[in-house]
Amino acid sequence: MTNPTKVFKFGGASVKDADAIRNVANILKKYREEKILIVVSAMGKTTNALEKVVAAYTKKTDDAFALLEAVKQTHYQVAQELFGTEHAIFSLLNDTFVEIEWVIEEDQQDSYDYVYDQIVSIGEMASTRMLAAFLAHENQAAVWLDARDVIRTDDTFREGRVDWETTGTLCQKKLPSLFDKNDLVVTQGFIGGTQENFTTTLGREGSDYSAAIFAYQLNAESVSIWKDVPGILNADPRLFDNVHKLDRLSYKEAIEMTYYGAKVIHPKTIKPLESKNIPLHVKSFIDPAGAGTLITTDDNITYPPVVVVQPNQVLLHISTRDFSFVTERHLGFLFQQFDKYRIKINMMQNMANSFTVSVTERTERLAQLIPEFEKDFKLIVDRNLELITVRHYTEDIIASLSRGKIILFQEYIEETMSMVVKEIPEMIRK
Ligand code: ASP
Repeated sequence: MTNPTKVFKFGGASVKDADAIRNVANILKKYREEKILIVVSAMGKTTNALEKVVAAYTKKTDDAFALLEAVKQTHYQVAQELFGTEHAIFSLLNDTFVEIEWVIEEDQQDSYDYVYDQIVSIGEMASTRMLAAFLAHENQAAVWLDARDVIRTDDTFREGRVDWETTGTLCQKKLPSLFDKNDLVVTQGFIGGTQENFTTTLGREGSDYSAAIFAYQLNAESVSIWKDVPGILNADPRLFDNVHKLDRLSYKEAIEMTYYGAKVIHPKTIKPLESKNIPLHVKSFIDPAGAGTLITTDDNITYPPVVVVQPNQVLLHISTRDFSFVTERHLGFLFQQFDKYRIKINMMQNMANSFTVSVTERTERLAQLIPEFEKDFKLIVDRNLELITVRHYTEDIIASLSRGKIILFQEYIEETMSMVVKEIPEMIRK
């Protein structure tokens, strides 16, 4: 079989408008005659806008049709800028949106998570239609692939779990013939399909993960994730001055950073690549000639402190009502509930007086979980906190990050320090 030499992933910002799509086409011109699988996110903030459609439809809080119409018009406008008024893209886009119009015309029968996936996934369907059509328009013939036909998941809607074996078989069946006839294949990130042909999504920001799944299945030579930053930085430039680009990272370091909440790559992306030793480049679509960051097995790297800040943390202090310690039996129940409501524990500690966990605020899920705990336990809930993690910490950096803050919870594991902090309320002298 002809394997694609590369997998490229273009995120929402890289296809956010007509100029951005032209820029992607220009980047691809530099790779002429290479076989590339192109994984694309929804345009700009489309996924957020579609989430609002879902909320309006399921909770009847707003006009779902009007919100969907706005998303549709944004796409038509971009199409018009790229293709003029007469082009097959308009009917392709219309077919994509009409399916959702049919869904929201009916009263809601299915679960929220199912409905969410059917609606939100059209962002990627539309963006890939647009990019594939534009590449063809520019004589860079690219074939469009429906990712739902090859990425097989179970029916955990909103967090589809990949069936690697079936996905492998489907990729081997479909992709070689596409690459025999085409250099470029354009497909959707973020989405998959169940055995019954229902659409699933892989979790927010899941397109990186899709790129890794494809690369794994195709034994790709490398993966490049194209972003609006020069590469992976040692802290979020929106929160810190003087951040540095990391030229190289090991898979292990990248896994650790993303596990602790660094938003730069989806946490599930690295392991499949590591298992096949597939190098991952994080590059800038604004400066495509820049070196970016290269992630490989290389362990011989000295790192500066790397800081990850996760806002919106909630601390749950859980203790028993009968003054006993929180034991393994209690913990079994508590973990089951976290799993049931799909709330990820960011940090935890079992202490004499309570079992304390830090989780990210997910208002609706916590609103279900908290009453479950309150039936049998005493619960103190602390909201609006930050979880700050520093890999390769120094005492100076911890001191500077905790200045003006109360540390509620702190942990050191090898080279990593994590702390949950709260702003010290400002006191104004009378
Ligand atoms: N469009 C999806 C999101 O915004 C997936 C992705 O961009 O990776 O979460």
